[in-house]
Amino acid sequence: MSTFDYDLFVVGGGSGGVRAARIAAGHGAKVAVAEESRVGGTCVIRGCVPKKLLSYAAHFHEDFEDARAYGWSSGEATFDWPTLIANKDKEIDRLNGIYKKLLSGSNVALLESRAVLLDPHTLDVGGKKVTAKEILIAVGGWPEMPVLPGIEFAISSNEAFHLPRLPKDVVIVGGGYIALEFAGIFNGLGARAHLLYRGEQILRGFDNDVRNFAATEIVKKGVNLRTHADVVKIEAIGERRRVTLKDGGIIDCDVVMYATGRSPKTDGMGLREVGVELAKDASIKVDAFSKTSIGNIHAIGDCTNRVNLTPVAIKEGHAYADTVFGGKSWCVDHATIASAVFSHPPIGVVGRTEEEARASGLALDIYKAEFKPLKHTLSGRDERTLMKLVVDRESQVVLGAHMVGMDAPEIIQALAIAVKMRATKSQFDATMAVHPTAAEEFVTMRTPVAAA
Ligand code: NDP
Repeated sequence: MSTFDYDLFVVGGGSGGVRAARIAAGHGAKVAVAEESRVGGTCVIRGCVPKKLLSYAAHFHEDFEDARAYGWSSGEATFDWPTLIANKDKEIDRLNGIYKKLLSGSNVALLESRAVLLDPHTLDVGGKKVTAKEILIAVGGWPEMPVLPGIEFAISSNEAFHLPRLPKDVVIVGGGYIALEFAGIFNGLGARAHLLYRGEQILRGFDNDVRNFAATEIVKKGVNLRTHADVVKIEAIGERRRVTLKDGGIIDCDVVMYATGRSPKTDGMGLREVGVELAKDASIKVDAFSKTSIGNIHAIGDCTNRVNLTPVAIKEGHAYADTVFGGKSWCVDHATIASAVFSHPPIGVVGRTEEEARASGLALDIYKAEFKPLKHTLSGRDERTLMKLVVDRESQVVLGAHMVGMDAPEIIQALAIAVKMRATKSQFDATMAVHPTAAEEFVTMRTPVAAA
């Protein structure tokens, strides 16, 4: 008989924690999850899911316009922010309920309180001591706001989901996933969106062609993208906000939103005190099996700052539960993970960028296709699509596939299988096209455009 209250105590009821809890319970473990906010975590409650719903809403703007060239006419389209937010909230409530049911259906106890470690087997959960043989930390991350005069007048993505009204104009600071996604959302819904990025070009770390192409398309859609734009202060002028830039520029707006990265949410939960080693960025140090410096404490997901994506956290949680409770030891392969930016137009990428591949000393064949999507031949919309393959010249293995344009996330998901399997360019070529699609370009690119 175990002397502990639980075999496993999971701190954090996000996608990763919930998956680990359910799988461990399925292996026969007695499991509890503590969640201080709402079960579902960042992705479901204040991230991927509500973001994508808002992104769909923003796309209708162009759909109404494009439909005219296809013979449709209707009255003037109008948009109501409170309706969108209320419907989005209803859906998030539904998903939150499903997550809770999944836990109870798996016999996992849910403790809706904050949990703090007292020793490697004991936690304070809302003022009550709880013991567990194994502890899994899955507390995720939180928006990082830089120190800056007036930063208290700025919001993060957390608050962007609950604005009482659609801003007339919005300043978004950052050039990564969240900044681009919200620039697309606000711009598409009719706000004037200013996107301020501190460096040379947005999307640092992405393929340079993708970065340049995406920037051009985003600007064409009406976003006021400014690079080398450093904010020095934010002021509140009544209900309005004034953003002052280093170059002296001033932008007045309704809302200033920072999307300048996220930090592991590991503060004040007793980790260091019980001997769990943290990195400089406050992420939890783990090995390939998500084990921390304390043998019975593991950590998964964004709080470990490996690859901060929901499906990665879910897989890490599953691997942990199988390994520790299922007698089946495996760990997550973090190589060649596809990802998407749900900007307008969206971006899908998998594998290596041209720059990464070159830096590793490989000779490459680069294939590129750039075209106007068929849909816009009638609509006349000035939107283009980019597709790119990075191929190792010697082995002809496709090292990376990159796309900017309509449906890029959907297309890249399927293509990721081939890239993960290390398919060669000739295997891509041997794959018959599905016509007429945009995706067919990935199997019909015949001639390398640049050689090195
Ligand atoms: P990112 O790391 O993607 O981007 C942060 C951006 O903010 C970068 O452009 C960075 O510039 C800039 N920045 C950082 N610090 C400052 C500062 N002090 N002042 C001005 N600019 C600054 O972070 P996000 O917040 O967009 O997203 C966090 C993470 O969440 C992502 O990395 C991703 O892992 C995940 N995510 C995934 C999504 C998806 O899969 N679709 C959607 C949303 C989030 P620089 O490049 O110069 O450092």
